[in-house]
Amino acid sequence: MELQHFSDVHPLIFIEQAKFGFWCNGCGEGIEGSCYSCRKCETDLHPSCAKLPLPRELQHPIHRKHPLNLHKTPPYDGRTCTCNGCNLPCRSFDYHCPLCKFDLDIKCASLPLTIKAENHDHPWTLFRNSIPFICSTCGKEGKGMPYLCGECGLWVHHNCASLPCMVKHIRHKHPLNLTYSLKDDHFEHRLCQLCVLKVDTNNGLYYCSNCDYVAHVDCATDKEGRDETFVWESNDKDPIESTTMMKEEDSGHDEFTNEFCYIVKKTKVGEDKVEIPIEIKHFAHEHDLQLTTKLENDKICDGCIRSIFPPFYSCAQCNFFLHKSCAELPRKKRHPLHQHSLTLQPMSDSFDLVQCNACYHITNGFTYKCDVCNFTLDVPCSLLSDMLTHVGHEHPLILSSTTNAEECSACNSKRKIFRCTKCEFTLDFGCATLPLTVGVQTTRASFYTSFYC
Ligand SMILES: [Zn+2]
Ligand SMILES: [Zn+2]
Ligand SMILES: [Zn+2]
Ligand SMILES: [Zn+2]
Ligand SMILES: [Zn+2]
Ligand SMILES: [Zn+2]
Ligand SMILES: [Zn+2]
Ligand SMILES: [Zn+2]
Repeated sequence: MELQHFSDVHPLIFIEQAKFGFWCNGCGEGIEGSCYSCRKCETDLHPSCAKLPLPRELQHPIHRKHPLNLHKTPPYDGRTCTCNGCNLPCRSFDYHCPLCKFDLDIKCASLPLTIKAENHDHPWTLFRNSIPFICSTCGKEGKGMPYLCGECGLWVHHNCASLPCMVKHIRHKHPLNLTYSLKDDHFEHRLCQLCVLKVDTNNGLYYCSNCDYVAHVDCATDKEGRDETFVWESNDKDPIESTTMMKEEDSGHDEFTNEFCYIVKKTKVGEDKVEIPIEIKHFAHEHDLQLTTKLENDKICDGCIRSIFPPFYSCAQCNFFLHKSCAELPRKKRHPLHQHSLTLQPMSDSFDLVQCNACYHITNGFTYKCDVCNFTLDVPCSLLSDMLTHVGHEHPLILSSTTNAEECSACNSKRKIFRCTKCEFTLDFGCATLPLTVGVQTTRASFYTSFYC
């Protein structure tokens, strides 16, 4: 697919998956996924930006005195300017008035003048001046041009003006509703269940009344948490339970099903009359594996790369070991850190090392990989869910879904964390998955000795 665009003399070629670090010459933001590109001139555009109808000359109500001219980059030394709409630096497409040195990036130039959204009775009108304001929906400070409801006297961010009344987040089974008041609420502050930080109930928030579940506007609408399998049928009055946590797509074509990673070859009946598989064929190993209950020293599980302990499966012909629990891992699973389903992968043949997206540890063991995008979890991290009770801390911890890395109270590195619901304590995935009896690393020793003594 090719596209002729004003910003490049060559036709732009459609690329299915842009390389990491590509940014859009139109809006200035990063590109994930597809783009239109010319590698000779290093022009890259989001498909949506490439197809924006951008007149070369624009008469805009924000700057009524003179027409604005479209430039591929701001016509100044250094090819950057500050957008008069949002007050942010612009080094991409620029609508420019040469007489007043007035500039608008294409995001501000294409803001709708009014927004009629389901979240408010009256239309929101773009305020045609850049001012500092406090958004009456999310409560955060805004710079730039707010949207105004003159009737109610409210200012909101552009994003907050078009918030949906209902969202479905992967971490909660019910849809969440946008609300501005919690009935019978005796507390000024509640905890957002997604980032585990305070929510000011004087602002807008997303709420599940079934579960008394509260989330910040930003947290609930974060695009990485959006449940893409959820379809809202507006004639359904009752909240719908999402099936994503239970139902899995049928896609396996090999002899191993989506549920199990092994085929049972031989069983024995255990003490409690339950059949135990004592010989299995596992998808990650070419030979059959036998169940062992004897102790083995200095051997490592090829699934989780931790010391082996009984019961475990081992190969009679080669040095291959799997904890019974690691052999029984599901082939496919969902994880609260990621919106798509993950599939268990054996260690790679080329001895490639992969990095876990939760703890950032390098592993050569089993991994859960996303079927759609570049997301990987090692086995220990895949076993953690939303809630964590940890021997190192007296209160329950909840996974925090903020996109920013946050500091771990145990090792001080900035990572994805679990946050305490009662105090300031945080724990990252690396520390949360540390084996408690072996291999305590010196950097974390003080944290662990503090509760072993
Ligand atoms: Zn070109
Ligand atoms: Zn002007
Ligand atoms: Zn806002
Ligand atoms: Zn939050
Ligand atoms: Zn709920
Ligand atoms: Zn294991
Ligand atoms: Zn990990
Ligand atoms: Zn605590």
